[in-house]
Amino acid sequence: MSGRAFVLGGGVSGIAAGLASGLQVLEAQEHPGGICRSYYVDEHGARHDRRPADRPAWRFETGGGHWIFGDDPPVLGLLARHARLRRHRRRAAVFLPDRGLLVPYPLQHHLRLLDSGTAAAALHELLRPKRPAATLAEWLEEQFGPTLCRLFFRPFHDLYTAGLTEEIAPQDPHKSPLDPRLVVRGALGEVEDVGYNVTFAYPEEGLDVLVDRLAARVRLERGRRVRGIDVAGRTVELADGSRRPWDVLISTLPLDRTLELAGLSTGEPPDPATSVLVANIGAVRGPACPDVHWLYVPRSQAGFHRIGFYSKVDPGFLPRPDPALVSLYVERAFPRGARPDAAAIRRWLDDVADELRGLGFVREVLVAAADWIDTAYTWRRPGSRWREEAMDLLVRHRIFPVGRYARWHFQGILESVREGLAAGAALRAGLPA
Ligand SMILES: Cc1cc2nc3c(=O)[nH]c(=O)nc-3n(C[C@H](O)[C@H](O)[C@H](O)COP(=O)(O)OP(=O)(O)OC[C@H]3O[C@@H](n4cnc5c(N)ncnc54)[C@H](O)[C@@H]3O)c2cc1C
Repeated sequence: MSGRAFVLGGGVSGIAAGLASGLQVLEAQEHPGGICRSYYVDEHGARHDRRPADRPAWRFETGGGHWIFGDDPPVLGLLARHARLRRHRRRAAVFLPDRGLLVPYPLQHHLRLLDSGTAAAALHELLRPKRPAATLAEWLEEQFGPTLCRLFFRPFHDLYTAGLTEEIAPQDPHKSPLDPRLVVRGALGEVEDVGYNVTFAYPEEGLDVLVDRLAARVRLERGRRVRGIDVAGRTVELADGSRRPWDVLISTLPLDRTLELAGLSTGEPPDPATSVLVANIGAVRGPACPDVHWLYVPRSQAGFHRIGFYSKVDPGFLPRPDPALVSLYVERAFPRGARPDAAAIRRWLDDVADELRGLGFVREVLVAAADWIDTAYTWRRPGSRWREEAMDLLVRHRIFPVGRYARWHFQGILESVREGLAAGAALRAGLPA
């Protein structure tokens, strides 16, 4: 390949792009993987980037449990050549704390578990013809009806979107599947699992091992934060003040951040994004600890909307095999960038621990760590063209947005890897003139 080109960001999209293109990858952090990164906390609470050889440690993930869902045989095959993957069958539920009820996900396919009055009203509303909806709030009401919206969908989405339900367009309908046939059958008896993550894979030795092995095959420059992109002079400026000339860039950074770095604007304000604060907890199991991989929660005192149980997926997350222990993650959404200070995060971890103890999910918290994901979920204002215009603008300047945040659309690890591979291979085939 002729010409100078770089990949910006060494998360899974950037690693894949670097792998397929042979290009240098500039990564701000000392470790590759971005959000897809495990880390370890030993029994004294000290944090380690890799599993310590000399002491037991809990394995956690910066973005909460990162499970590899989807079925793309070549991409899965590539991952499986680097680390042994184990396949799991999803056990997910909706948790209704005020009713003390755990209903398998998706709630709308399991109405038989609700009281008969609620189930009858929900059934009637779910089967009504649907009208178009402009906002997520309208769409939820239209799809699932007022009864299930009051019970679950509205308060859950208010937490999950950090209060944006009335301001953003409906998106990701695959996360809330609605099959009228299964609604009716599920009101009477058991139904089959549906959805995008019925089964998922996870590396036996941890996500960190998979990511490190992939990254070892890439020309990765660690600790290289890009602080500016000069589109006229075609140089990238790094945090240490040095400059790299370029002809083409693949950017895996969030779309709005790439525009900012390049000093470009579509003339429209960017669409919103939200951040997530993750609490990673190692604990003694409580008497009511549910036997699921994750729970969707519509109401919680500590403001979280999801609890995942690492060690229910794989006991390898624990410091030692011990059925009395459990490890879990809790996610709370925030408006983008509204990061609480360290003292507030410590108080929040205490609140989460109290709530989990109160629910009987844990008996005693042994270790707790928090992680902030600044760009976690991306959204669109109804009718917004910002995403398409922003991507077109970058491409006109020979900056190609690739991956989950760069293209501002929901996708998991597998699709991010696939996109990175495709973009890298396209560049390898020839830099655009
Ligand atoms: C809470 C949460 C849970 C999720 N759970 C799952 C799941 O279970 N399964 C699943 O498949 N997917 C899941 N995802 C989605 C998954 O995280 C993404 O698809 C994937 O991580 C996207 O990878 P990426 O490389 O595109 O982005 P990132 O991981 O964000 O990587 C971007 C990289 O760019 C680097 N960077 C940023 N700024 C600069 C700069 N100025 N200069 C240089 N480098 C920079 C960052 O350090 C980072 O390494 C989840 C996402 C979230 C938020």
